[in-house]
Amino acid sequence: MFVEIDGSMGEGGGQILRNAVALSAVLLKPIKIKNIRVKRSNPGLRPQHLTAVKAVATLSSAEVAGLKVGSLEIVFNPKSRPRGGVIEFDAGTAGSTTLMLQSLMPTMAFASESVEVKLIGGTNNPMAPPVEYLQWVLMPILEKMGCRFRVELLKRGFYPRGGGVVKACSDPVDILKPVKIVEFKGVKKIRGLSYSCRLPGHIAERMASTSEKILRENGYDVEIRREVLQPNDSKCSMDPGCGIILLAELGDGFVIGVDKLGEKGVPAEKIAEEASRELLEELSSEAPVDKHLGDQLVIWACLAEGTSQYRVTKLTKHTTTSLELCRILTNAKIEIDGIEGKPATITIEGIGLKRR
Ligand code: ATP
Repeated sequence: MFVEIDGSMGEGGGQILRNAVALSAVLLKPIKIKNIRVKRSNPGLRPQHLTAVKAVATLSSAEVAGLKVGSLEIVFNPKSRPRGGVIEFDAGTAGSTTLMLQSLMPTMAFASESVEVKLIGGTNNPMAPPVEYLQWVLMPILEKMGCRFRVELLKRGFYPRGGGVVKACSDPVDILKPVKIVEFKGVKKIRGLSYSCRLPGHIAERMASTSEKILRENGYDVEIRREVLQPNDSKCSMDPGCGIILLAELGDGFVIGVDKLGEKGVPAEKIAEEASRELLEELSSEAPVDKHLGDQLVIWACLAEGTSQYRVTKLTKHTTTSLELCRILTNAKIEIDGIEGKPATITIEGIGLKRR
């Protein structure tokens, strides 16, 4: 019996597919997803989604139908619980490696043995977390839930050619612990990274100093590292690119993250100013979980044992969509106290999935 998922629900984007496939793999529940990404201007599977599905299918020995670029419907039928091992996948484009990891990480966590995965594609994409966001914002929380990942950025990859390399390793987890991230205990320090590849060094410098100035004027202790990579550095991308990542370390160790990718024709100062203003806005809501983490934590909390609770700076459609999708596939009990576009508290009674 296949569970039918309508990919046009809520946000109607790629995240529905990534979460659905991951849950199908760990719960060993065959699914059929229709209307994949129909609310996007380029609907259907893109190389990033295709590669993510292939990678999860490999770990869970799934039979998959409909797996081609542009496909609006797939059937995903896992034949065994996820296994361990070493795998490598290349999107062949700048398809986001971190979004591929969104599907892979829950699957890796519940695999029978350790998994080592090498992904090739984009590492810094618009509308996707940079690798540093996974390392500094998401992974410390997953670690508290009992799940250890090591994610390494070996080479940056930007649009259009990608070619970035990310390696992720996991140890199997028996059961996930719930998390409680409700109180905002002030900001200890703001750290950041201003990076560039194949561009003059003054770009990263101008982004960093602009953000330092704005955030210091607002009373924060700020330290931003500069990373200027040129072609002779093995971490340097094939195509030029730059961006800034800002991380506010909260009183109890949780982190709020914001990032902006540089754009051709947009001054470095403007990119940094937008990132800084966005961080200030996130902090002004006095909630400890940023708007992106809000949707990324849902799947983990639904699989954990017991009650997780967290307060988001802004309840996004990505989050409400993720909650609805995960509720359908896991039957977790979910409560939302708040409305879309505003801070909200999410309570999830997870199903306590055990690795077998
Ligand atoms: P599409 O809808 O085109 O398929 P997509 O596959 O990129 O897009 P979305 O459904 O839009 O997927 O999901 C994007 C994911 O990336 C979400 O989990 C969101 O939280 C995360 N994300 C987007 N921008 C950032 C950012 N700047 N920092 C951290 N996470 C981000």
